[in-house]
Amino acid sequence: MILRIPLFLAAFCCTVSAATLAPQAEQKLAHDIYKELVEIKSGYTTGSTTLVADAVAARLRAAGFPAADIFEGGPSPKKFNVVVRYHGTGARKPILLLAHEDVVEAKREDWTTDPFQFIEKDGYYYGRGTADDKAQAALWIANLIRYKREGFKPDRDIIVALTADEEGGGPFSGIQWLIKNHKNLIDAEFCLNEGGMVEMVGDKNVSNDLQVSEKWYVDFRLEVHNKGGHSSMPVPDNAIYHLAGALDRLGHFAFPLKTDEVTKAYFVEMAKLETGAMKPQLAAIASGSRAAMQKVAESSAMWNSMLRTTCVATQIDGGHARNALPQLAGANVNCRVLPGDTLDYVQSTLKKVFADDQVSIKVDGDVDQAAGSPMRPDILKAVNRVTDSLWPGLPVVPMMLTGATDGRYLRVAGIPTYGIQGLGLDRDDKRMHGRDERMPVKSFYEGQTFLYELVKVLSSPQ
Ligand SMILES: [Zn+2]
Repeated sequence: MILRIPLFLAAFCCTVSAATLAPQAEQKLAHDIYKELVEIKSGYTTGSTTLVADAVAARLRAAGFPAADIFEGGPSPKKFNVVVRYHGTGARKPILLLAHEDVVEAKREDWTTDPFQFIEKDGYYYGRGTADDKAQAALWIANLIRYKREGFKPDRDIIVALTADEEGGGPFSGIQWLIKNHKNLIDAEFCLNEGGMVEMVGDKNVSNDLQVSEKWYVDFRLEVHNKGGHSSMPVPDNAIYHLAGALDRLGHFAFPLKTDEVTKAYFVEMAKLETGAMKPQLAAIASGSRAAMQKVAESSAMWNSMLRTTCVATQIDGGHARNALPQLAGANVNCRVLPGDTLDYVQSTLKKVFADDQVSIKVDGDVDQAAGSPMRPDILKAVNRVTDSLWPGLPVVPMMLTGATDGRYLRVAGIPTYGIQGLGLDRDDKRMHGRDERMPVKSFYEGQTFLYELVKVLSSPQ
């Protein structure tokens, strides 16, 4: 998961009092699970998530969870998922709490510290996965154990699923395997997942992001075939020129600007936070001003991506010899598509833009046309309530992720998914997937309380 939201704001607020944090013993439990998970090498190409699943299952068994409520399994011996169910009264459909076990690879020589050693230093926890996504994984498990110890009786089952291969993605990812083979284990009314952080500027919290939808991803392969010939006798009909012309037209094209209920709500909140010149433009987006959308899109690549489907050339190949006319010219065009746009629409638009029958265009790879999740008032209300009790005055900002998480597969499978973590990270210093990944110590324990309370609110008898 990668995300960055531009926030240009001055209003800082919201510190948490020590009294609202979990009791010391609960903090220690969360810390110990977190440390254990970070120190397991679960890189998605060389490591194993099965070791994470085993460690978590052992913790759950030791805490008294019956073996029948713990599931371990996956598409291969090194890629196990773990799923646990905490039983409620069954008055409402279960809630699914999701995090992933795998991490992006990390090399010792690239890091200041050993990436697979959990190290506390200068107010941060360092280690691969401290931010993405082992903090949330550890907190889901620690909180579940705490509910059980406290005798909390939810009115719905609480399911925690920790998945393999989120970072690797594709057909081997853990969540797709679970949906395909064990949907009954994870079936829920809705899911809470990664993808929505507490945004910080320095050490101050500025917004609590609630990720409601995400763009979907498709690659197109473009090809121009030509009979070729000797380069000493060129003709105008040249595969490279056809392809170059089509890509040049794409470079000058932009998909229409649009908003939906999520991005509208996002820009309403951004308008409140913004203090610079864009403030009136951000506010005008909510009322549908096209001129405002245009100005906002021009001001930031991130905002542009939130306001329209984008397609961009990312790779090119062609020709077979320096002294021959090309017989083939090809390119990859990568599209990030708004939840409301269809594959047909994107493909036929590209065809019109290329305006050249010699340029063939076909989908390359998997396509998951993810829809957004509905903006459920009960979830928004719960997030607002818990946010306000922990960080009075901190705004909750609904948003669309321009990247991708496991949530897209769940949404397609009919389980609306919301990215919410309560974990604060400096918006200008996010190190997921990078070197010296870290989590502020304070953010981890605030996140512990936030997620503990949020799940409790969402699963308490009505
Ligand atoms: Zn992640």
